[in-house]
Parts: sequence; structure tokens; C-alpha cells
Amino acid sequence: MAPPPSGQTTGLVVDLAKIPPEGRELAVEVEPESLQLSPEDAITLDAPVFVHGLLRRVAEQVYFRGAVEGVVRALCSRCLDAVHATIGADIDAAFLPPPTGAGAEETFETDELDLYTHDGVQIDLRPLVRDQVVLAFPVQSLCREECAGLCQVCGVNRNEQQCACQDEDRDSPFRVLKGLHFPESS
Ligand SMILES: [Zn+2]
Ligand SMILES: [Zn+2]
Repeated sequence: MAPPPSGQTTGLVVDLAKIPPEGRELAVEVEPESLQLSPEDAITLDAPVFVHGLLRRVAEQVYFRGAVEGVVRALCSRCLDAVHATIGADIDAAFLPPPTGAGAEETFETDELDLYTHDGVQIDLRPLVRDQVVLAFPVQSLCREECAGLCQVCGVNRNEQQCACQDEDRDSPFRVLKGLHFPESS
């Protein structure tokens, strides 16, 4: 079977015309590659994530309320071992029509919503899901609470082996700060 054309691969791209007045249920398994996570995101997906919820169309705006669930892999902040974490994030987002150039002020409440745009023909939920997956993973992720991290001097994983340089500053409360570079000290 030939691969489907771009934009039809995930089920996260929906024709606006196919969103009926009563809304449209969405339940999609999203393949990792369709989210195009970049190295800066610092997380990896080994398996699809599951997105479900309801699309509603109000005039030119489309609202999505639902959730994303899955398992992500990242690196332990201390020892760089792989860390797997189950994520589950509620999604509340609005997709606005493309700017008309008329300079009209948007008047609806947006405080609680993540804002995206659609192109007037289709709504693409991939950027939204991607953002949610990245945000759902804690910035500081540890393989375990008491992870000993890497030796700042020789680089060995202190969870796995001891090293000779370990003793000198083991008791220093500032040990963890070594190796970090601040723009200026305060
Ligand atoms: Zn660790
Ligand atoms: Zn060492």
C-alpha cells in the first residue's frame, strides 16, 4: 500500500467541513514520527501516543478539548540514563482562522486556552499534540530520586561505579553546582 499523502498520515489533520455542528469525536493513535520531535525537545517517543477528545466548531473557530496519553523517553538530568515516564495531559485549545489582515481585535476569552491557527480548510492538531507531549514531561527528570549522577571530574556514572576523584568534594553542598556555568555570579 502506498503511503498516504502528507497530511493524511495521522488522523490529526481534519477537514473543517467534516466537523458537524454537534462536534466530532477524535480518538487517534499518533505515530511518533508524525510529531517531528526535534533534539531540542530532549524527549523521544518509542511508541504511539493516544489523543482523544472532542472537536467543536463555532463559526470560524475550532475548539478541541481532550487529552493526550503516552510514554515518553528522556535522559536523566543527572546521569543521562534513559528515563521513561507515562504522561497524561489535558488539552484545551482553540484554533483560530487565518488572519484576515483587517486588524480585527479578537474579543473572546483566551486565558484558559492554548491558541493555534487553522488554514480555513483543515485543522492540524499535530503542533498542539507535539507541544503537549513536550510540556507534559518534567524538565527535571531523574532515573530515580537518589540518582548519584555523573562524576563532574571524570564523568563516570556514579550509580554504577566509584571513582578515585569521588572523595574530595563529596560532602560539599555545592558539589552539584560544579560544572554549571552561570553568566555571572551573584
Ligand atoms: Zn540518573
Ligand atoms: Zn570521578
